[in-house]
Amino acid sequence: DGLSRKIAAGEVIERPLSVVKELIENSLDAGATAVDVELGQGGKVLISVKDNGGGIVPEELPLAVEKHATSKISSEADLEAIATLGYRGEALSSVCAVSHFELYSRRPDLPEGASLHYENGVPRVTAVPLRPGTTVVVKDLFYNLPARRKFLKTAAAEFRRISRLVQDYAFAYPAVAFSLTHDGKSVFKSSGGGSVEKLLAQIWGDEPEIRASAFEAATSSVRLWWQDLGPQSRFQLVSFVNGRRVSDAVIRSAIQGFHWATRGNWLVMLSLPAEDVDVNVHPAKSEILFRRSGEVYDLVRKAAERLAKGFSD
Ligand code: ADP
Ligand code: MG
Repeated sequence: DGLSRKIAAGEVIERPLSVVKELIENSLDAGATAVDVELGQGGKVLISVKDNGGGIVPEELPLAVEKHATSKISSEADLEAIATLGYRGEALSSVCAVSHFELYSRRPDLPEGASLHYENGVPRVTAVPLRPGTTVVVKDLFYNLPARRKFLKTAAAEFRRISRLVQDYAFAYPAVAFSLTHDGKSVFKSSGGGSVEKLLAQIWGDEPEIRASAFEAATSSVRLWWQDLGPQSRFQLVSFVNGRRVSDAVIRSAIQGFHWATRGNWLVMLSLPAEDVDVNVHPAKSEILFRRSGEVYDLVRKAAERLAKGFSD
């Protein structure tokens, strides 16, 4: 069982980036308004994600780490229209199976918090004084999967990916204050309570000018931003669908259908009825399916078209 748990964990957790993504999503699902990410050596020796969200009661700490334990889905109907970022109950159990794992949490309505540690695989819950919220500490990722550990890139390369991820989430959740610390140095902070535009100016820089566009249909809408970095520049697309960071060919091809649009920085945020999006494709969840992909294509295309005024295709 230890072995099958490790193999299953490898499906969900590919690298430090995947851990950080899962933990940030948990914090957002818990309603956090502040999320602090701390890394050691690109996340290879330490990943810690601390939030000020709703927390977990002490009795439920071991349950949260059990496989397929989720508090977010309770019916088949829930599964048809997933409203939270997480729903599989696989992240914490997977991370725990392949790292030295600690969990600290306090619910705002309880006077005290608790920590969860493992001693020879046995969970131990201890009462500790904590601020409301949850901190997950992940040390020595893949210490027990040396083959997987060997596939990790340098600390600097792992760090760069995570840094982009945290900044992408800052774009998508401008009301949340994110911070990122690497090897003891503060490398990124968003203030929370801000606007997407302010964050774009902070992260992309406000030169060259960032153009914005939007398009609304009956039940769906799209907002997008573009920074033209010149004819030779790389095409860099960040896209979110219902608050979930995705990599999607429909969105990409809708934009790249315009000759002038195949370059520069793009941010696309789509909002669709939950039942029109199937996120249940892969445990790592960066691919999704649209029930009506033709409509999504048109929506994104129309918003991009509005940017095109003054350009020729
Ligand atoms: P999922 O997010 O798919 O439910 P996870 O393994 O990521 O599964 O988390 C398991 C459960 O632990 C969640 O359903 C939630 O109840 C609890 N949990 C995890 N992280 C947090 C957090 N940061 N704040 C509050 N509860 C959390
Ligand atoms: Mg989760």
